[in-house]
Amino acid sequence: MSSLTRPATAPSKETSVSAARVALGRALAARVTDVGDIMARQWRQSSNGAATWSAGQNDRIAQDIMRIGSFATTTFSKYLVTGDPTTPEEDATWKGQGTVPLHGIMSLAELTKLNLNWRSAIIEVIYAEAGGLGTDAVTVAEAVDVARAGCDASLVGMAKHFDVEQRRLQSELAAGQARLTHQQLHDPLTGLANRTLLLDRLSHALMASKRRETAVAVLFVDMDHFKSVNDAVGHSSGDGLLMQVARRLQKLVRPTDTAARFGSDEFVLLCEDLTAPQTEAAAVAGRVIEALSEPFAVAARELFASASIGIAIGRPGDDAEVVMSQADAAMYLAKRHGRARHVLYEPAIDEASSRRAELANALHRTLKHGELQIHYQPVTDLRSQRVVTMEALLRWCHPDLGPVAPVEFIPIAEDTGLIVDIGRWVLETACSDCRAWRDAGHDAGVSINVSGRQLANADLVDDVREALERTGLPPAVVTLELTESILVTSDEGSRVALTALKALGVRLAIDDFGTGYSSLSYLAELPVDDLKIDRSFISRLGHDTQSLSMIGAVVELAHSLGLIVTAEGVETELELAELRRTGCDLVQGYLLGKPHPLGSTANFETP
Ligand code: C2E
Ligand code: MG
Ligand code: MG
Repeated sequence: MSSLTRPATAPSKETSVSAARVALGRALAARVTDVGDIMARQWRQSSNGAATWSAGQNDRIAQDIMRIGSFATTTFSKYLVTGDPTTPEEDATWKGQGTVPLHGIMSLAELTKLNLNWRSAIIEVIYAEAGGLGTDAVTVAEAVDVARAGCDASLVGMAKHFDVEQRRLQSELAAGQARLTHQQLHDPLTGLANRTLLLDRLSHALMASKRRETAVAVLFVDMDHFKSVNDAVGHSSGDGLLMQVARRLQKLVRPTDTAARFGSDEFVLLCEDLTAPQTEAAAVAGRVIEALSEPFAVAARELFASASIGIAIGRPGDDAEVVMSQADAAMYLAKRHGRARHVLYEPAIDEASSRRAELANALHRTLKHGELQIHYQPVTDLRSQRVVTMEALLRWCHPDLGPVAPVEFIPIAEDTGLIVDIGRWVLETACSDCRAWRDAGHDAGVSINVSGRQLANADLVDDVREALERTGLPPAVVTLELTESILVTSDEGSRVALTALKALGVRLAIDDFGTGYSSLSYLAELPVDDLKIDRSFISRLGHDTQSLSMIGAVVELAHSLGLIVTAEGVETELELAELRRTGCDLVQGYLLGKPHPLGSTANFETP
């Protein structure tokens, strides 16, 4: 209910008030609460009130109605007594009392009904009191008229107010709906477009490109090693990093382009209206890589990030989903090529990925069908010329495709998780083979490559322990080789595994040193024994002068940390001679012995 406003026919202050009216007014003042009660009861009985709100709400509304009804009656009776219905202050209270609580929840019809309730309640009480007091008919009629007029005036005011309220609510609703639509189409963390909006924009852009005779480019941006960032700094800092990455990406594209968050650490840039799409997209990709290379300040830490980017060009008539999957395939290749780079999609990528799929499929049966074999390559001591260890290198001969190189199938085995079972087989077989050659009088140890997936697997330490127990090999003759990148990106769990392996007494080697992060600082932190310098450094020996001094410096540093240094991929006498000058300890390469199956007479010969 709104209120009973000053009746249009209100008398001026000067109007004299009859004694009968004063008496009636006072009698009504004593019934103030009754009027409120009558209204609340009526309201409770009306089916509308009961059905629309919960019990708790109903109680609160009934209390409001009681309060408003009583208040209106107080003012009304005061008016009868004094002839002056309200002071300006009271008027303000009057309106506030009536309108605020109920306008927000009741329809105009309900409020009107409530106002009329008040009218009938007060008239009922007027008649009752007038009867008791013996009030004259003129005074009673006057009081009833005033109640009617007040109620009418109140209805008009209420309708106006209701209109204003309605408009306010409507604009609030519209704003709410706009917010909701925004939420449905945007990523809550970064505020960028989400997958749905991106695909919609891409479809539209592809259609529009037909009309404009232009092309669109999709850049699939996938953060490199984001999981290890999360593991290292925690998820909230990870989120902080993603938000900053989003901001940098958003700045790189034109306002008409779209920056979207596609998945947890995947972003997509959609560039429209391109006339030289490949060049323009490559330029954007270059800018992304550059922008991400600047360190990020997250929660008082400096974080570094990079991303691999796949680019696909969409032309009129292309399907949005297909363009997206092409960009995804190209991104995948960028990752394979060493991350922090971009690759443009071309149909050959599909061939490569279908070969990958075929190999992934075939890898499942390799162990069962005995398609895997291990070849051994000697690692020779430069001074004594003795073979100190044999590196176990996997070989796979596919029944139809022929030999598949480890560099091709090992990453697939890692991606599919098959490397865990395959690696366990290598570990068992290589330890048994080593046992066999040691029993035959060759004292070389065995070096086994271990992938990151294996290191992260909880069974590795037990598997190694069992292999040692079963074969009776002295732990120190077994070396586990881990690539530099695994060690740098390893999480806490992997570091615990490394320590446990070390505690078993096996040797740990850093493989392919120089190809990954080339960070020397972690050499001192990790429990490693050996360092294997990658072939890419060795093959430069003799071609530039820097290589020699660089290898010399690495050897010196490694020695100062108590590590033994192996040079990988030694192919020429020149390389060998240069390596002698660096103080390198061990050498491995075609010059000294190619990988051969077990039992080959070439295995333990020193050329
Ligand atoms: P890696 O551990 O660095 O092994 C050395 C690679 O260099 C081997 O390639 C070996 O055949 C090759 N190599 C040795 N000497 C020379 C040389 O003088 N010239 C040239 N051009 N190459 C030489 P391979 O056998 O193709 O293996 C490649 C990579 O595959 C290995 O690199 C290793 O990372 C991985 N791998 C091989 N076997 C296994 C395995 O059982 N488990 C795991 N996780 N990875 C393996
Ligand atoms: Mg190796
Ligand atoms: Mg290597």
